[in-house]
Amino acid sequence: MTLNNLKDDLLKGERRALAKAITLVESTRKDHQQEAQHLLAGILPYTGKSIRLGFTGTPGVGKSTFIESFGLFLVAEGYKVAVLAVDPSSTRTGGSILGDKTRMELLSKAENAYIRPSPSGGTLGGVARRTREAMLLCEAAGYDVILIETVGVGQSEIAVSDMVDMFLLMLSPGGGDDLQGIKRGIMELADLVIINKADGDLKKAAMRAASDYKAALHLMRPKVDCWTADVVLASALKKEGLDEIWRHIQNFEQAMKAGNALVGLRSEQAKAWMWSEIHDQLMDNFRTKHPGRIKEMEQAVRSGITPPTAAARELLQDFLK
Ligand code: GDP
Repeated sequence: MTLNNLKDDLLKGERRALAKAITLVESTRKDHQQEAQHLLAGILPYTGKSIRLGFTGTPGVGKSTFIESFGLFLVAEGYKVAVLAVDPSSTRTGGSILGDKTRMELLSKAENAYIRPSPSGGTLGGVARRTREAMLLCEAAGYDVILIETVGVGQSEIAVSDMVDMFLLMLSPGGGDDLQGIKRGIMELADLVIINKADGDLKKAAMRAASDYKAALHLMRPKVDCWTADVVLASALKKEGLDEIWRHIQNFEQAMKAGNALVGLRSEQAKAWMWSEIHDQLMDNFRTKHPGRIKEMEQAVRSGITPPTAAARELLQDFLK
Protein backbone atom coordinates (compact mmCIF):
# COMPACT_ATOMS: atom_id res chain seq x y z
CA MET A 1 0.00 0.00 0.00
CA THR A 2 1.43 3.38 -0.90
CA LEU A 3 1.44 6.24 1.54
CA ASN A 4 -1.20 8.04 -0.53
CA ASN A 5 -3.52 5.05 -0.47
CA LEU A 6 -3.00 4.78 3.26
CA LYS A 7 -3.92 8.42 3.67
CA ASP A 8 -7.05 8.06 1.50
CA ASP A 9 -8.21 4.96 3.37
CA LEU A 10 -7.51 6.64 6.68
CA LEU A 11 -9.58 9.66 5.72
CA LYS A 12 -12.40 7.30 4.73
CA GLY A 13 -12.29 6.02 8.30
CA GLU A 14 -11.08 2.51 7.54
CA ARG A 15 -9.97 0.83 10.73
CA ARG A 16 -7.24 -1.21 9.10
CA ALA A 17 -5.71 1.93 7.65
CA LEU A 18 -5.91 3.62 11.04
CA ALA A 19 -4.19 0.68 12.75
CA LYS A 20 -1.52 0.63 10.08
CA ALA A 21 -0.94 4.36 10.30
CA ILE A 22 -0.56 4.19 14.08
CA THR A 23 1.90 1.31 13.70
CA LEU A 24 3.90 3.49 11.31
CA VAL A 25 3.92 6.35 13.82
CA GLU A 26 5.07 3.99 16.56
CA SER A 27 7.87 2.46 14.52
CA THR A 28 11.40 3.38 15.53
CA ARG A 29 12.80 2.72 12.05
CA LYS A 30 14.16 5.88 10.45
CA ASP A 31 12.42 5.33 7.08
CA HIS A 32 9.12 4.59 8.85
CA GLN A 33 9.48 7.75 10.89
CA GLN A 34 9.97 9.78 7.75
CA GLU A 35 6.90 8.22 6.17
CA ALA A 36 4.95 8.83 9.36
CA GLN A 37 5.86 12.51 9.41
CA HIS A 38 4.88 12.79 5.75
CA LEU A 39 1.54 11.16 6.47
CA LEU A 40 0.94 13.39 9.51
CA ALA A 41 1.66 16.52 7.50
CA GLY A 42 -0.86 15.36 4.90
CA ILE A 43 -3.66 14.65 7.37
CA LEU A 44 -3.15 17.69 9.59
CA PRO A 45 -5.86 19.75 7.83
CA TYR A 46 -8.36 17.01 8.70
CA THR A 47 -7.57 16.96 12.42
CA GLY A 48 -8.78 18.96 15.39
CA LYS A 49 -12.51 18.31 15.15
CA SER A 50 -12.81 15.91 18.06
CA ILE A 51 -13.07 16.58 21.74
CA ARG A 52 -9.93 15.31 23.46
CA LEU A 53 -10.46 13.93 26.95
CA GLY A 54 -7.84 12.75 29.41
CA PHE A 55 -8.70 10.34 32.25
CA THR A 56 -6.62 9.57 35.25
CA GLY A 57 -6.98 7.94 38.64
CA THR A 58 -5.16 5.44 40.79
CA PRO A 59 -5.26 1.79 39.68
CA GLY A 60 -8.46 0.13 40.90
CA VAL A 61 -10.56 3.30 40.86
CA GLY A 62 -12.47 1.88 37.88
CA LYS A 63 -10.96 3.60 34.84
CA SER A 64 -11.25 0.62 32.51
CA THR A 65 -14.78 -0.11 33.66
CA PHE A 66 -15.69 3.54 33.28
CA ILE A 67 -14.17 3.95 29.83
CA GLU A 68 -15.97 0.83 28.67
CA SER A 69 -19.34 2.10 30.00
CA PHE A 70 -18.81 5.67 28.89
CA GLY A 71 -17.48 4.61 25.50
CA LEU A 72 -20.55 2.43 24.92
CA PHE A 73 -22.79 5.29 26.05
CA LEU A 74 -21.16 7.62 23.49
CA VAL A 75 -21.37 5.03 20.73
CA ALA A 76 -25.09 4.63 21.50
CA GLU A 77 -25.42 8.42 21.21
CA GLY A 78 -24.03 8.12 17.69
CA TYR A 79 -20.41 9.16 18.25
CA LYS A 80 -17.25 7.49 17.04
CA VAL A 81 -14.98 6.88 20.00
CA ALA A 82 -11.24 6.23 20.13
CA VAL A 83 -9.45 5.08 23.28
CA LEU A 84 -5.70 5.60 23.63
CA ALA A 85 -3.34 5.30 26.57
CA VAL A 86 -0.20 6.80 27.98
CA ASP A 87 1.58 4.26 30.12
CA PRO A 88 5.35 4.25 29.79
CA SER A 89 5.58 1.12 31.92
CA SER A 90 3.48 -0.97 29.59
CA THR A 91 4.53 -3.68 27.21
CA ARG A 92 2.42 -5.07 24.43
CA THR A 93 1.86 -8.36 26.12
CA GLY A 94 0.87 -7.30 29.59
CA GLY A 95 1.11 -4.82 32.37
CA SER A 96 -0.83 -2.20 30.51
CA ILE A 97 -4.39 -1.47 31.48
CA LEU A 98 -5.43 -1.23 27.88
CA GLY A 99 -3.18 -4.04 26.73
CA ASP A 100 -5.59 -6.23 28.58
CA LYS A 101 -8.35 -5.89 26.04
CA THR A 102 -10.70 -8.28 27.75
CA ARG A 103 -11.32 -5.55 30.29
CA MET A 104 -13.05 -3.49 27.62
CA GLU A 105 -14.56 -6.41 25.85
CA LEU A 106 -17.82 -4.89 24.66
CA LEU A 107 -16.33 -1.58 23.63
CA SER A 108 -13.55 -3.26 21.67
CA LYS A 109 -16.24 -5.09 19.67
CA ALA A 110 -18.30 -1.97 18.94
CA GLU A 111 -18.11 -0.91 15.31
CA ASN A 112 -17.73 2.78 16.11
CA ALA A 113 -15.07 2.35 18.75
CA TYR A 114 -11.35 1.95 18.32
CA ILE A 115 -9.09 0.91 21.20
CA ARG A 116 -5.34 1.16 20.98
CA PRO A 117 -3.08 0.04 23.83
CA SER A 118 -0.23 2.24 24.98
CA PRO A 119 2.81 2.11 22.72
CA SER A 120 5.30 -0.14 24.43
CA GLY A 121 8.64 0.80 25.83
CA GLY A 122 10.54 4.00 25.63
CA THR A 123 10.59 7.14 27.69
CA LEU A 124 7.49 9.00 28.77
CA GLY A 125 8.33 11.63 26.15
CA GLY A 126 8.44 9.00 23.42
CA VAL A 127 5.22 7.31 24.52
CA ALA A 128 3.47 10.68 24.82
CA ARG A 129 4.59 11.76 21.35
CA ARG A 130 3.31 8.57 19.75
CA THR A 131 0.00 8.92 21.60
CA ARG A 132 -0.36 12.53 20.42
CA GLU A 133 0.28 11.47 16.87
CA ALA A 134 -2.12 8.53 17.19
CA MET A 135 -4.73 11.03 18.41
CA LEU A 136 -4.32 13.11 15.25
CA LEU A 137 -4.67 9.99 13.11
CA CYS A 138 -7.89 9.05 14.94
CA GLU A 139 -9.25 12.52 14.27
CA ALA A 140 -8.42 12.26 10.59
CA ALA A 141 -10.26 8.93 10.56
CA GLY A 142 -13.38 10.70 11.79
CA TYR A 143 -13.44 9.87 15.49
CA ASP A 144 -15.47 12.45 17.43
CA VAL A 145 -14.36 11.72 20.97
CA ILE A 146 -10.83 10.71 21.95
CA LEU A 147 -10.41 9.21 25.41
CA ILE A 148 -6.84 9.12 26.60
CA GLU A 149 -6.21 7.06 29.70
CA THR A 150 -3.21 7.34 31.96
CA VAL A 151 -2.21 5.20 34.88
CA GLY A 152 -2.38 7.27 38.02
CA VAL A 153 1.32 7.32 38.70
CA GLY A 154 4.19 9.66 38.10
CA GLN A 155 4.52 12.23 35.40
CA SER A 156 2.19 10.68 32.84
CA GLU A 157 -0.80 12.73 34.07
CA ILE A 158 0.99 15.92 33.19
CA ALA A 159 1.91 14.57 29.78
CA VAL A 160 -1.73 13.68 29.16
CA SER A 161 -3.11 16.96 30.46
CA ASP A 162 -0.74 18.66 27.99
CA MET A 163 -2.36 16.93 25.04
CA VAL A 164 -6.08 17.03 25.84
CA ASP A 165 -8.81 19.67 25.97
CA MET A 166 -10.29 18.46 29.21
CA PHE A 167 -8.74 16.51 32.05
CA LEU A 168 -10.95 14.26 34.18
CA LEU A 169 -9.80 12.89 37.50
CA MET A 170 -11.45 9.73 38.83
CA LEU A 171 -11.56 9.12 42.56
CA SER A 172 -13.24 6.49 44.66
CA PRO A 173 -15.51 7.07 47.65
CA GLY A 174 -14.00 7.36 51.07
CA GLY A 175 -10.95 9.16 52.33
CA GLY A 176 -11.99 12.55 51.10
CA ASP A 177 -9.68 14.40 53.45
CA ASP A 178 -6.45 12.62 52.63
CA LEU A 179 -7.11 13.07 48.92
CA GLN A 180 -6.26 9.38 48.59
CA GLY A 181 -2.63 10.07 47.99
CA ILE A 182 -3.55 11.97 44.87
CA LYS A 183 -1.16 14.85 44.72
CA ARG A 184 -2.65 18.27 45.03
CA GLY A 185 -0.95 19.09 41.74
CA ILE A 186 -3.08 16.51 39.96
CA MET A 187 -6.22 17.91 41.53
CA GLU A 188 -5.26 21.30 40.14
CA LEU A 189 -5.09 19.85 36.64
CA ALA A 190 -8.64 18.50 36.85
CA ASP A 191 -11.46 20.12 34.87
CA LEU A 192 -13.91 17.61 36.28
CA VAL A 193 -13.68 15.23 39.23
CA ILE A 194 -15.64 11.98 39.01
CA ILE A 195 -16.32 10.02 42.16
CA ASN A 196 -16.79 6.52 40.81
CA LYS A 197 -18.40 3.54 42.58
CA ALA A 198 -21.24 5.72 43.87
CA ASP A 199 -23.47 2.68 44.19
CA GLY A 200 -24.74 0.23 46.82
CA ASP A 201 -23.03 0.51 50.18
CA LEU A 202 -20.56 3.04 48.83
CA LYS A 203 -23.18 5.59 47.78
CA LYS A 204 -23.24 7.48 51.09
CA ALA A 205 -19.43 7.64 51.32
CA ALA A 206 -19.36 8.86 47.72
CA MET A 207 -21.68 11.73 48.57
CA ARG A 208 -19.52 12.72 51.53
CA ALA A 209 -16.39 12.50 49.39
CA ALA A 210 -18.04 14.67 46.75
CA SER A 211 -18.66 17.48 49.19
CA ASP A 212 -15.10 17.19 50.58
CA TYR A 213 -13.64 17.42 47.11
CA LYS A 214 -15.94 20.27 46.19
CA ALA A 215 -14.59 22.17 49.19
CA ALA A 216 -11.01 21.33 48.21
CA LEU A 217 -11.59 22.48 44.62
CA HIS A 218 -13.16 25.66 45.87
CA LEU A 219 -9.87 26.65 47.47
CA MET A 220 -7.96 26.21 44.25
CA ARG A 221 -7.36 28.72 41.52
CA PRO A 222 -9.38 27.86 38.40
CA LYS A 223 -7.21 26.43 35.62
CA VAL A 224 -8.95 28.47 32.94
CA ASP A 225 -11.04 31.62 33.36
CA CYS A 226 -14.11 30.30 31.61
CA TRP A 227 -14.57 27.07 33.56
CA THR A 228 -14.95 26.05 37.17
CA ALA A 229 -14.15 22.42 37.94
CA ASP A 230 -16.96 20.46 39.53
CA VAL A 231 -17.44 17.10 41.20
CA VAL A 232 -19.90 14.49 39.93
CA LEU A 233 -20.93 11.05 41.14
CA ALA A 234 -20.91 8.03 38.86
CA SER A 235 -21.15 4.29 38.84
CA ALA A 236 -19.27 2.78 35.96
CA LEU A 237 -20.59 -0.61 36.98
CA LYS A 238 -24.26 0.43 37.05
CA LYS A 239 -23.80 2.90 34.18
CA GLU A 240 -25.07 5.78 36.27
CA GLY A 241 -24.05 9.42 35.92
CA LEU A 242 -22.74 8.99 32.40
CA ASP A 243 -25.19 11.40 30.81
CA GLU A 244 -24.43 14.03 33.42
CA ILE A 245 -20.71 13.67 32.80
CA TRP A 246 -21.28 14.02 29.06
CA ARG A 247 -23.31 17.18 29.70
CA HIS A 248 -20.43 18.62 31.71
CA ILE A 249 -18.04 17.78 28.88
CA GLN A 250 -20.27 19.44 26.33
CA ASN A 251 -20.66 22.52 28.53
CA PHE A 252 -16.92 22.67 28.94
CA GLU A 253 -16.40 22.45 25.20
CA GLN A 254 -18.94 25.20 24.61
CA ALA A 255 -17.41 27.48 27.24
CA MET A 256 -13.93 26.90 25.85
CA LYS A 257 -15.07 27.59 22.30
CA ALA A 258 -17.04 30.69 23.21
CA GLY A 259 -14.03 32.53 24.58
CA ASN A 260 -11.69 31.16 21.91
CA ALA A 261 -9.93 29.47 24.81
CA LEU A 262 -9.87 26.10 23.06
CA VAL A 263 -7.98 27.46 20.07
CA GLY A 264 -5.58 29.17 22.47
CA LEU A 265 -5.06 26.01 24.52
CA ARG A 266 -4.41 23.85 21.48
CA SER A 267 -2.00 26.29 19.90
CA GLU A 268 -0.04 26.54 23.15
CA GLN A 269 0.02 22.75 23.33
CA ALA A 270 1.31 22.55 19.76
CA LYS A 271 4.06 25.03 20.56
CA ALA A 272 5.06 23.16 23.72
CA TRP A 273 5.05 19.92 21.75
CA MET A 274 7.46 21.40 19.20
CA TRP A 275 9.84 22.43 21.97
CA SER A 276 9.73 19.05 23.64
CA GLU A 277 10.52 17.51 20.22
CA ILE A 278 13.47 19.83 19.83
CA HIS A 279 14.66 18.87 23.28
CA ASP A 280 14.31 15.13 22.65
CA GLN A 281 15.90 15.22 19.21
CA LEU A 282 18.79 17.37 20.40
CA MET A 283 19.44 15.02 23.30
CA ASP A 284 19.27 11.98 21.02
CA ASN A 285 21.77 13.52 18.64
CA PHE A 286 23.95 14.77 21.42
CA ARG A 287 24.22 11.39 23.09
CA THR A 288 24.96 9.51 19.88
CA LYS A 289 27.40 11.92 18.22
CA HIS A 290 30.51 11.44 20.40
CA PRO A 291 29.64 8.69 22.89
CA GLY A 292 33.28 7.96 23.70
CA ARG A 293 34.02 11.58 24.49
CA ILE A 294 30.92 11.78 26.69
CA LYS A 295 32.08 8.76 28.72
CA GLU A 296 35.51 10.33 29.16
CA MET A 297 34.02 13.56 30.39
CA GLU A 298 31.60 11.80 32.73
CA GLN A 299 34.55 10.02 34.26
CA ALA A 300 36.52 13.27 34.55
CA VAL A 301 33.61 14.97 36.30
CA ARG A 302 33.02 12.02 38.61
CA SER A 303 36.59 11.93 39.80
CA GLY A 304 36.70 15.68 40.28
CA ILE A 305 39.29 16.40 37.58
CA THR A 306 37.01 18.63 35.51
CA PRO A 307 34.27 20.90 36.88
CA PRO A 308 30.80 19.90 35.53
CA THR A 309 30.13 23.27 33.93
CA ALA A 310 33.41 23.25 32.07
CA ALA A 311 32.81 19.66 30.95
CA ALA A 312 29.34 20.53 29.69
CA ARG A 313 30.68 23.52 27.79
CA GLU A 314 33.42 21.45 26.19
CA LEU A 315 31.03 18.68 25.15
CA LEU A 316 28.63 21.22 23.68
CA GLN A 317 31.43 22.83 21.73
CA ASP A 318 32.41 19.45 20.32
CA PHE A 319 28.79 18.77 19.46
CA LEU A 320 28.31 22.06 17.65
CA LYS A 321 31.53 21.77 15.65
P1 GDP B 1 -8.76 0.54 36.92
O1 GDP B 1 -7.55 -0.16 37.48
O2 GDP B 1 -8.81 1.97 37.35
O3 GDP B 1 -8.86 0.41 35.43
O4 GDP B 1 -10.03 -0.16 37.56
P2 GDP B 1 -11.01 -1.29 36.98
O5 GDP B 1 -11.89 -0.73 35.94
O6 GDP B 1 -10.20 -2.48 36.60
O7 GDP B 1 -11.89 -1.61 38.26
C1 GDP B 1 -11.34 -2.08 39.48
C2 GDP B 1 -12.41 -2.80 40.27
O8 GDP B 1 -13.43 -1.89 40.65
C3 GDP B 1 -13.10 -3.90 39.48
O9 GDP B 1 -13.32 -4.99 40.34
C4 GDP B 1 -14.41 -3.28 39.07
O10 GDP B 1 -15.44 -4.22 38.90
C5 GDP B 1 -14.70 -2.34 40.23
N1 GDP B 1 -15.52 -1.20 39.80
C6 GDP B 1 -15.31 -0.40 38.73
N2 GDP B 1 -16.28 0.52 38.63
C7 GDP B 1 -17.13 0.31 39.64
C8 GDP B 1 -18.34 0.94 40.09
O11 GDP B 1 -18.85 1.90 39.50
N3 GDP B 1 -18.94 0.44 41.21
C9 GDP B 1 -18.41 -0.59 41.91
N4 GDP B 1 -19.06 -1.01 42.99
N5 GDP B 1 -17.28 -1.24 41.51
C10 GDP B 1 -16.65 -0.79 40.40
